[in-house]
Amino acid sequence: MSFLEKYSKEFQELDRLPNDFINDEKIWEQLNKWENPSKEDVRRVLKKAEQCIRLEPQETAILIQNKDEETIQEMYDLAYQLKQEVYGDRIVFFAPLYISDECANNCKYCGFRSTNNEIKRKTLTMEEIEQEVKIMTQEGQKRTVLVYGESPKTQIDFMCKSIEKVYSTKTNHGEIRRANINCAPLSVEELKQLKDVEIGTYQVFQETYHHETYSNVHPKGTIKGHYRWRLYAMDRAQQAGVDDCGLGVLFGLYDWRFEVMGLLYHTIHLEENFNGVGPHTISFPRITPAKGTPYSDNPQYAVSDEDFKKLIAVLRLSIPYTGLICTARESQEVRDSVIPLGVSQIDAGTRIGVGAYAQSQKANEIPDKEQFTICDSRSLDNVINEVCGMGNIPSFCTSCYRAGRTGEHFMKVAKSKFVHNYCIPNAMFTLKEYLIDYATPETKAKGETVLQEHLDKFKGDPRYNTIVQTLEKIENGQRDLRL
Ligand code: SAM
Ligand code: SF4
Repeated sequence: MSFLEKYSKEFQELDRLPNDFINDEKIWEQLNKWENPSKEDVRRVLKKAEQCIRLEPQETAILIQNKDEETIQEMYDLAYQLKQEVYGDRIVFFAPLYISDECANNCKYCGFRSTNNEIKRKTLTMEEIEQEVKIMTQEGQKRTVLVYGESPKTQIDFMCKSIEKVYSTKTNHGEIRRANINCAPLSVEELKQLKDVEIGTYQVFQETYHHETYSNVHPKGTIKGHYRWRLYAMDRAQQAGVDDCGLGVLFGLYDWRFEVMGLLYHTIHLEENFNGVGPHTISFPRITPAKGTPYSDNPQYAVSDEDFKKLIAVLRLSIPYTGLICTARESQEVRDSVIPLGVSQIDAGTRIGVGAYAQSQKANEIPDKEQFTICDSRSLDNVINEVCGMGNIPSFCTSCYRAGRTGEHFMKVAKSKFVHNYCIPNAMFTLKEYLIDYATPETKAKGETVLQEHLDKFKGDPRYNTIVQTLEKIENGQRDLRL
């Protein structure tokens, strides 16, 4: 059987479904119905959103279509408030690790696509993975997302081996404690194998929910050309027990308003079918230029910075419990402006490109342009410093997933604002480790101030003494402690 025929049986079954859960016409009807909502319409939705519950499509359509400056500001203020309630002022840090850029697909926007002759292809060996992880952990990274193309060289056994390699690589105090995955949609059997090697979140971005656009940018005859195989990837993940799922859209392929509705419908579908478990995270990359990829230079539906801010706030208000990830594809300026709108995870110290961490050490040059360009190339220490300066706590915490709080369990936790009792102290512990093991003196000073400010907030709380004692233990050399 050829690589491209791999899932042909499953494709046929999906083709027999009379329809899927994305109804393009219905989405446009809802958006058109609310083309000009009044202030009262918007405020009615915000009143409901205040309760920190997932919104319905017609409510989200009202927020999307709101063009009134005064109530847009009210949306931003509430988005910030909800983020504080659900996540506190933690910002979770991670860095991607590109394992392979070999790909049999031919997505028009991506530098890894099979017909791009302008890049050299590479899949890391196990030794090279170890080398990359060592560099990342020496910089202080504890969480990563492993990125793979879809090719015969990176099938499930290879993926599992690479994940095991990542977890087993250690440097002095450092190790990766959570490896998330960004890869192609897989079968239930394959996903069970990923579950066995203890992946964190399984991310598959739909790229675009709009059926026609999807067919235009993902050629027929490639695995990725099958819209429903991708759309139902998270159903299969849940069936396999992989219950932390990451959704995403590649903004710029189609109208952003439609795509936000698509993300909401996907969330509702998952909640309805899997005991209320919606997406653990949502990503919203905007297309950035990739080498040898003219399509990426000038995307037809490029999203302006203003609309980008609005779409993030709408996501935070509509799906309050989900983690929102803003990557280094965005500039420092944009990232700073969207963090207060509800972003809960960012990457820093990022190197994009296969083998890029090792390469950047050798040549002092970052090979960032292969798949797409990164705009925020500050070091991890630099970003930690600035995030502390904003009064936020940078967090490398991996407690929930290692304590089994994933899927349904995590949703209960996130929806019940458990964060203040556990997540904030745990974030403080991981920041303390970072400050001792990796920070520059300037970052250390700023970070200690943030720690002290947060510790003061626990005065009078039953957890106060335990938090103080745990911080002391870390000061005395213990690592990886949590409540
Ligand atoms: N091959 C897997 C897949 O397509 O799902 C995972 C790896 S792919 C490199 C990860 C993500 O990169 C894609 O889902 C897409 O959203 C994003 N991406 C591709 N081309 C991009 C571009 N030019 N700018 C920004 N993001 C891009
Ligand atoms: Fe391959 Fe993913 Fe790039 Fe498409 S987006 S060409 S599937 S790596």
